[in-house]
Amino acid sequence: MDLKELRSRVTGAVTTSEDSHYERLRRSMVWNRLVPQRRPHVVVQVANENAIAEAVRFARTNGMKVAVRGGGHSWIGYSLRDDSLLIDLGRLKSVSLDPQARIAIIQPAVTSQDFNRRLAAEGLAFPVGHCPTVPMSGFLLNGGIGWNYRAWGPSCCSVEAARIVTADGNLVVASEKENTDLLWAVRGAGPGFFGIVTEYTVRVFPAPGAIITSTYYYPLAMVSEVGDWIGSIAQELANQVETTIFISAAPAEIADRCRGSNGFACGVSATAFAENAEAAASMLKVLENCPLVADCLRRVVNFPTPIETLHRMNSLSTPPEHRYLTETMWTNSPPANVLAASRERFLEAPSTKSTQLFAFLASVNAAELADCAYSMSGDALSICSAAWERPGDDAANRAWHSDTTAALDEYAIGHYIGESDILADPGRAERCFDKESWQRLQILRGKYDPDGLFHSFFSQH
Ligand SMILES: Cc1cc2nc3c(=O)[nH]c(=O)nc-3n(C[C@H](O)[C@H](O)[C@H](O)COP(=O)(O)OP(=O)(O)OC[C@H]3O[C@@H](n4cnc5c(N)ncnc54)[C@H](O)[C@@H]3O)c2cc1C
Repeated sequence: MDLKELRSRVTGAVTTSEDSHYERLRRSMVWNRLVPQRRPHVVVQVANENAIAEAVRFARTNGMKVAVRGGGHSWIGYSLRDDSLLIDLGRLKSVSLDPQARIAIIQPAVTSQDFNRRLAAEGLAFPVGHCPTVPMSGFLLNGGIGWNYRAWGPSCCSVEAARIVTADGNLVVASEKENTDLLWAVRGAGPGFFGIVTEYTVRVFPAPGAIITSTYYYPLAMVSEVGDWIGSIAQELANQVETTIFISAAPAEIADRCRGSNGFACGVSATAFAENAEAAASMLKVLENCPLVADCLRRVVNFPTPIETLHRMNSLSTPPEHRYLTETMWTNSPPANVLAASRERFLEAPSTKSTQLFAFLASVNAAELADCAYSMSGDALSICSAAWERPGDDAANRAWHSDTTAALDEYAIGHYIGESDILADPGRAERCFDKESWQRLQILRGKYDPDGLFHSFFSQH
């Protein structure tokens, strides 16, 4: 099959590196404005499942490796690979819902926001991504650290089945009844997956009767004391409470009081997902007992935050059209130690748009993870993002982020494949999985993609 034939066979658009609009298209494949230089040879923007299989067969026949794009939210632009055929699933966004059975069938590129809206209209919910634009495609494949993670679990645990185009260009279904090892891999293999998911079947949840959030801002100097206290009560917080300590630019109301800390403040944000507002408020009440609360610079308590509102709030901390570097680590270290190290780094941050999150995500049920490639977890997930706008500031922000990641590394027990910079350190890919799951992934890759048609983690080029 040649390119002409490919164009006639696939429903969708085929663009090659010779086409005049190629560079614009290439850059649009990645949400982060820090777009990698890597250049696929052909980009196929598929309009249906059949086109995916055709494109895979074309690549195989023509000796090209295949890269996949869901919605382009990988921080390091995984989907852009040199000399590859890139299959872009961005046009596949349909959702079909059976509210009685609490089952949804979703195409890969549906965003967290669109999926949530569709569910909310039926009184249902799902642990969608924290930011509205995050597509379900790679989010579920990575494991998915979504809203109400401690109660609803990693999002991939709610994947009941998937339709997959394999390396031979065939379509298979993976479920609890057939191709169970593929289903295991879909639940968390991330960019190490050796096929293309064209559709997910997921179990959804009754929507909580009330979702409320309390946020307390403190001086940055107090971040380790605040961390210490939250760490001491973390076990008492109900599983339906998602608690995060963050470092971010101080909001306007308290900006004057944070000038001495490079414009940064720290904060505690806790969101309760409960049957009603009263129950939610009682889950968050403990935050008022913080012995440091008298030093709180600003607080917003028991604010109603349906997931739609949480999405709006979160998108403020990751605005589009910015340049980002992001690294995660799972840690079991005392929060005070990790946050003290972060504080020193933020005092020198070149951009006040950079953020650090320290999310208390313990209590994921180990039995639940038994059927998932997603296998790394700890007491807390730390996420450090450098964010800036101007290309001229790249060098300073790159150096700061790299030094900050190095400073925190001693506290890491592992990383999260969805938000780890495995280009900066290829060894991190393996540390995103437990040993057994990592080995099983390599074995399954050998079984389902023996010729290495699909790109994988960068270390396995
Ligand atoms: C602003 C922002 C907020 C985020 N928030 C969260 C969050 O709250 N929780 C969280 O867990 N993650 C979060 N992430 C990370 C996000 O989950 C990953 O970046 C994820 O890869 C996004 O999915 P995507 O389809 O856009 O990936 P893409 O960038 O399109 O793809 C990345 C790689 O994933 C693989 N892939 C994707 N889809 C498929 C498919 N259908 N079949 C086979 N392989 C596929 C391919 O290897 C592909 O190259 C966030 C990212 C951003 C930018």
